[in-house]
Amino acid sequence: MAKVDSLPFDHGDWDQQRSSLEIPGYGPAGHPVVRHRTGNRMNKWTNWSRSESCKPAELHFARSVEDVSAVVARAAADGRTVRVAGSGHSHYPLVPTDGVVLDLSGLTGIVHTDVEAHRARVWGGTTIYALGRPLHDAGLALTNQGDIDRQAIAGAAATGTHGTGQNITNLSSMVAGLTIVNHRGDAVRCSATENSEMFRAARLGLGAFGVVTEIELSLVPAFRLAETRWTTTYDQLRPDIDELSDRHRHFEFFWFPQTDEAHPKTTDPTDEPAVYPVAEEGARCNWSYEVLSNHRPLLHTEMEYSIPVERSLDCLDEIKDLLRGEFSDVAWPVEYRRVAADDIAMSQAHGQAVATISVHQGKDLPAEPFFAACQKIFLRYDGRPHWGKVHYLDGAQLAAITPGWGEWWTQRNAADPDGIFLNDRLRSWR
Ligand SMILES: Cc1cc2nc3c(=O)[nH]c(=O)nc-3n(C[C@H](O)[C@H](O)[C@H](O)COP(=O)(O)OP(=O)(O)OC[C@H]3O[C@@H](n4cnc5c(N)ncnc54)[C@H](O)[C@@H]3O)c2cc1C
Repeated sequence: MAKVDSLPFDHGDWDQQRSSLEIPGYGPAGHPVVRHRTGNRMNKWTNWSRSESCKPAELHFARSVEDVSAVVARAAADGRTVRVAGSGHSHYPLVPTDGVVLDLSGLTGIVHTDVEAHRARVWGGTTIYALGRPLHDAGLALTNQGDIDRQAIAGAAATGTHGTGQNITNLSSMVAGLTIVNHRGDAVRCSATENSEMFRAARLGLGAFGVVTEIELSLVPAFRLAETRWTTTYDQLRPDIDELSDRHRHFEFFWFPQTDEAHPKTTDPTDEPAVYPVAEEGARCNWSYEVLSNHRPLLHTEMEYSIPVERSLDCLDEIKDLLRGEFSDVAWPVEYRRVAADDIAMSQAHGQAVATISVHQGKDLPAEPFFAACQKIFLRYDGRPHWGKVHYLDGAQLAAITPGWGEWWTQRNAADPDGIFLNDRLRSWR
């Protein structure tokens, strides 16, 4: 098996993102472009890839629950929408509003760990990368992580962010409890035993239940992982995909349309000691938080659908034909991962194990005709869209393919009857 040196995503580093901050010094590296001039028309919020933006009446950086409560209560009295911004890594217009954008990047850190129960309570604005080391020091770790760790934990959970591993659920499923500042400015707690119906829905809440100030995470003891990456062709890999998914804790691959190369990667628990400095992606042997996430600095946009596992490779074959035929100019790879089933109302894996298939396009390259053609294929295979990535579905279409849709809206509307946590896009789905 030939070793792969790097994915095309890998060129550059996080400095590329840092240099995109237009007012240097705002937020940690990798944080979205945010400009804030109190009380004037220059407020601007932009997502990571700059495909989504807005000029809210107010852009507020909260550093305490008291501040969050006061901002929400005032916005409700003024009849303004409140949308919380995590790290801005969604490709879909979830955050944009002309009301209030509330940035929680100042509300970060671990509140409490319970090592015996494998639980930790963390502030909602904490980035996943900032969780790794302190959890490790307490002997704990996240069960899984996505491809990057730049997201705020509340932002990642709010859209069903996932890694790969056919026996591992998404990050929303790792949420054991939430503290939410509601439309009155009151902090309300929900979990499997408190406000449990709301909890089933709010774990993947799209920012529409209120402001998640604190999350209780269900964790596992800290563990080490070793990964292996190799190069092959899709045709050679295809017959082995089920077996590789069965045999390894994590299995995924990228397929590159212009060369037809596939770059599979397996990652498994190991008793080997951690090796420093941490090696490049594909050769790491370290603690899980040092291995599971990657550097993906090249600005791009992305569509991802979750497909029932048993139909996923036929679906991928069609996506592959599309890229080799009508869209042969698209150079960005396709990613294939697996996620276990859960019972969260709006989860892409609600009631069924899925494979996620992601298509990408460079930031300034035409994405819509390509993504629209992919979406037609995904829908024929009973696909459900990733809530934080591009899709072109309206409320009726989403309702038809999302089993927990009615339940989610019932709980959401009860939590926020006046809809102050809905922006125009979410309101259009009602
Ligand atoms: C380079 C890159 C790699 C990615 N890799 C993966 C991956 O491997 N797997 C995957 O599934 N997805 C992936 N994504 C998508 C990403 O994980 C999701 O879009 C995620 O929701 C982004 O988190 P965020 O903190 O940036 O939230 P934002 O994009 O800022 O917000 C997302 C949603 O969360 C809400 N929200 C944020 N914070 C709060 C809060 N405190 N209270 C209430 N609501 C809140 C917002 O209102 C919004 O509705 C990737 C995206 C990029 C750009």
